[in-house]
Amino acid sequence: MFTCPIGCPSDCCKFEDFEDMPVVLEDEVRTLTQEAGRIGIKLRFEPYGEHNGVKLYKWVIEGWCPFFKGKCTIHEKKPLSCRMYPLVLNLKTGDIYLSEKCLWVRLNGPKPLDHFPAEKEALKKLVIKLRL
Ligand code: SF4
Ligand code: SF4
Repeated sequence: MFTCPIGCPSDCCKFEDFEDMPVVLEDEVRTLTQEAGRIGIKLRFEPYGEHNGVKLYKWVIEGWCPFFKGKCTIHEKKPLSCRMYPLVLNLKTGDIYLSEKCLWVRLNGPKPLDHFPAEKEALKKLVIKLRL
């Protein structure tokens, strides 16, 4: 089963490429904005089109996620795209794939979805919200 290895540098919470940055839903933008307000920071979101009438946003993070302090500090409130990681949904094709950016994936190679029970649940929630 998937468990983040101790000592992983958490590259999943550090961003350089726009394409890798999390895609979030409107209610997640509100939650993240509230959490950012609590620690006195501002976040940046860019409209990222619509999917079946559901508005999407790109959470623009340059470098480390501001909520990463050795670990995710908003674990209970993090968006579905973070919850389902290293599972990634390609919105254009509907394909689900494993992120090569993840150390576990690089060490263990591709595995079936059943290796990721919690992440699969988050993916299911996203699929329902996106009316796929
Ligand atoms: S919200 Fe948490 S899991 Fe998501 S990128 Fe930020 S620190 Fe990482
Ligand atoms: S999801 Fe992957 S890259 Fe992120 S902390 Fe876990 S093992 Fe490391």
